[in-house]
Amino acid sequence: MLVLKFGGTSVGSINNMINVKNIIHDGQQKVVVLSAMSGTTNALVTISDYIKNGQTKEALNTIDVLSNTYATTIKTLITSPDLHQNVSQYVQNVLNGLANLVNTNYSNLLYNTIVAQGELMSTYIFTHFLKQEGINAKLLPALDFMRIDKTFEPDNYYIQQNLNRIMAEDNQAEIYITQGFICRDAEGDIANLQRGGSDYTATIIGAVLKAEEVQIWTDIDGFHNNDPRFVEHTKAISNLSFDESAELAYFGAKILHPQTVMPVRALDIPVRLKNTMLPKADGTLITNQVHGEGIKAIAAKDGITAIKIKSGRMLQAHGFLKKVFEIFERYETSIDMITTSEIAVSLTIDDTTHLNAIVEELSRFAHVEVDNYMSIVCLVGNAIIFHSDTPNLFQILQDVSVRMISYGGSNNNISLLINTSDKVETLQKLQRYVFEGNPVLV
Ligand code: ADP
Ligand code: ASP
Ligand code: MG
Repeated sequence: MLVLKFGGTSVGSINNMINVKNIIHDGQQKVVVLSAMSGTTNALVTISDYIKNGQTKEALNTIDVLSNTYATTIKTLITSPDLHQNVSQYVQNVLNGLANLVNTNYSNLLYNTIVAQGELMSTYIFTHFLKQEGINAKLLPALDFMRIDKTFEPDNYYIQQNLNRIMAEDNQAEIYITQGFICRDAEGDIANLQRGGSDYTATIIGAVLKAEEVQIWTDIDGFHNNDPRFVEHTKAISNLSFDESAELAYFGAKILHPQTVMPVRALDIPVRLKNTMLPKADGTLITNQVHGEGIKAIAAKDGITAIKIKSGRMLQAHGFLKKVFEIFERYETSIDMITTSEIAVSLTIDDTTHLNAIVEELSRFAHVEVDNYMSIVCLVGNAIIFHSDTPNLFQILQDVSVRMISYGGSNNNISLLINTSDKVETLQKLQRYVFEGNPVLV
């Protein structure tokens, strides 16, 4: 069994939906995970924000815009009159349902319910499009099998039992379509796997079905060696290991949700990244195998807060670090980077929910400084710290103000903490220093 996931752009236009149909219709049984059509989840988040702020009129206007966009798409894609009537009615019901929520009190559940509608609409439209084209497609409602537990981890046993049960109800289907991103929580309420979570849905399903391969189809020809949104001349990487891709995804490479490889890594199920618009391009294959050495790729993660904790007598004060870490542990706040000196420890976090309380507790025994708007730039590659290219990286230090460096925490990762305002320039300079071998001429 193959599991194929198509992202927002891949289902975001008529042409791309036709591309998807051509890619998946080859007579082999498979599971296809779809995101919401591009722009929809952002629009739903905006609607939810308007409701939170009591901006009812703005929320209704945004629903109207969605309604017009969907009407145009459905009109062009679903030409069979009966199916057209059926699909239009479904989408109209969803949008009317949203309109009925605009005066509701805001809650997390309201947010989760609103943002779930994008995947519900895209899968309904696409399944009926396949049926219209004479393809034996079956819609598997993710809310009937996808569930996370109290610790927000996938509830694999529940998922496996229920997914197998509903697939067995129609074991002749060629293509099983399901929603990415959405799930239920331990209480049975609508929840999700966080923004970009459709990738994670695909690997969770791949793992429970023991798939041969999980394919993530998107709008670019694989995992690039730097962030193509900010850097020119980036190149697709043909092979990555699970560790390398997990590290890059965690540190901001948007092409993969940070958790994507977790479910499949232990089962050694390969993940292949492919371009829906260029299906013949090789893409990137992610496996347990390690290929090559040296710096393979660079990614950056924003929204980082740095905390410097100074004590007059750190090294002599036995148990100082333990006291520091216990506070972060109690507030369930994970630390990404850490450096120490004789009298201070600097660390970074990305979840600032409990920042004030943490700073308050640390201040009882240390001097604390907090810096916001920081980014971590992460360089990843097998045995990176031993490779002869790596010293080139340090030339960057003469041009960019680096606040912290983590070198050697693992053999595969070097991280730099910089101001977010320096991020784009740093990524561009690193591209030239590391991959193009040129010093920066400025
Ligand atoms: P989808 O909607 O298909 O899930 P995403 O927008 O989530 O697509 O991810 C694909 C995008 O990720 C690319 O268009 C690209 O702009 C961005 N991206 C960021 N870093 C990388 C990288 N290292 N390699 C490839 N794409 C990247
Ligand atoms: N539609 C969701 C989002 O935009 C999930 C996804 O695309 O993976 O975040
Ligand atoms: Mg994505």
